[in-house]
Amino acid sequence: MSDTIFHKIIRREIPADIVHEDEHLIAFRDIAPQAPVHVLFVPKQDFATLNDVNEDAAVVVGRLATAAARYAKQEGFAENGYRIVMNCNGDAGQTVFQIHLHLLAGAPLGRFGT
Ligand code: 5GP
Repeated sequence: MSDTIFHKIIRREIPADIVHEDEHLIAFRDIAPQAPVHVLFVPKQDFATLNDVNEDAAVVVGRLATAAARYAKQEGFAENGYRIVMNCNGDAGQTVFQIHLHLLAGAPLGRFGT
């Protein structure tokens, strides 16, 4: 198993504000939120980046997006809107090399880009 900070959270070796967990993934609040709601959805399978996800990418990424949408509906901000983001490697600013989906919401979000 890889050993990023997110693996330590999965193994409960460091604390996190966990909002959801199932057999496939864990979701917890980002330690440095970039929006009023900023939750990370992390698969329990090891993939450093999106480039490393094999033929099961549709399933792996689909589970993360589905869980994020379910959380948005459950928390009542799905209709107002939200953004999901997955950073891949250096130009995107990926800092933790276990794939994860960012869910950002809770206020109008600025446009993204360079
Ligand atoms: P990336 O830049 O790799 O797409 O996103 C990594 C995210 O993980 C960042 O938004 C960062 O704030 C968050 N993060 C880094 N370390 C920790 C931690 O120890 N706990 C939590 N909850 N989030 C973290």
